[in-house]
Amino acid sequence: MRSMIPDYLAEVLHDCAADASGAVADYIPELARADPDQLAVALATVDGHVYAVGDHDVPFSIQSISKPFAYALALTDHGFDAVLAKVGVEPSGEAFNELSLESGTGRPLNPMINAGALTTYTLIGSVGLDDDERFERARGALSAFAGRELVVDEAVYASESQTSFRNRALAYILRAQDIVPDPDAAVAGYTRMCSLQVTARDLALMAATFANNGIQPLTGERLVGPDVVRQVLSVMTTCGMYDAAGDWVSTVGIPAKSGVSGGIIGALPGQLGVATFSPRLDAHGNSVRGVELCNRLSRDMGLHMMEVPPPARSVMRASRSIDLPEGRAARIYALQGVVTFTGAERVVSTVVAEDPWEDTVVLDLARVHTINDVARRMLLELVRRLAGDDRRVVLVDPEEVLPDPDAGDGVRPEVVQVLDGDPVGGA
Ligand code: GLN
Repeated sequence: MRSMIPDYLAEVLHDCAADASGAVADYIPELARADPDQLAVALATVDGHVYAVGDHDVPFSIQSISKPFAYALALTDHGFDAVLAKVGVEPSGEAFNELSLESGTGRPLNPMINAGALTTYTLIGSVGLDDDERFERARGALSAFAGRELVVDEAVYASESQTSFRNRALAYILRAQDIVPDPDAAVAGYTRMCSLQVTARDLALMAATFANNGIQPLTGERLVGPDVVRQVLSVMTTCGMYDAAGDWVSTVGIPAKSGVSGGIIGALPGQLGVATFSPRLDAHGNSVRGVELCNRLSRDMGLHMMEVPPPARSVMRASRSIDLPEGRAARIYALQGVVTFTGAERVVSTVVAEDPWEDTVVLDLARVHTINDVARRMLLELVRRLAGDDRRVVLVDPEEVLPDPDAGDGVRPEVVQVLDGDPVGGA
């Protein structure tokens, strides 16, 4: 049997193919030579399954899609405070090449516009790196996101370098504000990074690395930390599609970034990365058919980030009473899935409402996948309070999803792999 996903993607591609509106970017002369009919869509899950149709192996320059990765590297290499001191996180509502600076501090408004990205580029790598080493840090890291070595399209680099008057002007103003140290080096490095060649398939995997909380789905390598991913995806959500960000968030609802060569990436946390490629752009500088493809995928596949199933409802699998040997009785609360605040709240409120009479209370975690930090603290506090009410508390935790269950005040529940005497145990 064949998966239905490539067939579905091919159908969506076919439906969007006819739209020939928009125009290829020509302010970088080399980009004007792109075949405007090229069209691709690729999808990579956090498990590393990649589906790609159309011109998914055609290389093109990454352009502004490099910006969220540059931001992630700057945050990783210099820390949040140093980066935030130089680049803000407010949407500019203006075109990508505007000089959108914050009044007072003179910081570029955000890292997704050129002024911001020229600045974050200079914060990649440690302070002492020379220009070549800094570029190599950027190239090497973007390659690690893609899972293969990326190279510079020298023709695009030369072409943009000959015409990057506006970026040079931005960099010189940033130099005057003491925000970038060397404006020429900033423009050269940033332009080189924008000239790295990628395919739609590469971009889907790069986006999937963000969706997978910083771990590349195929290589398993952790490239950036969860706090960096959260920051980058937040800024992609508010600023990634330039002055069309509001329209994009409300219709597609996926943290995204576009580039003038016609690419768009979207990263849906915990689920997948998506990438489209189609060179004709709309007035905002976003790919016309790319936006259309993403709209369609989001609608058909229920990908809007505000549209999520209520995980808390499924956390409590069962509450039942059993007779234990030695004439004792136990109340078993069997949990399942991913436990976050609302899931833990459901457990706590059930226990409070039922006020179990049994002398033993069992939290069966055998079917739990993950417990986040707040849920862990709440469950341990529940254990402490139950112990304070003279209950014996037992955790069934074969996978150690709640390691080192120290509930405080010297309370430690018994931890077992399976519950002796439970006829249903583990079912
Ligand atoms: N290198 C391009 C520039 O700086 C990137 C712009 C973009 O993709 N929006 O103009």
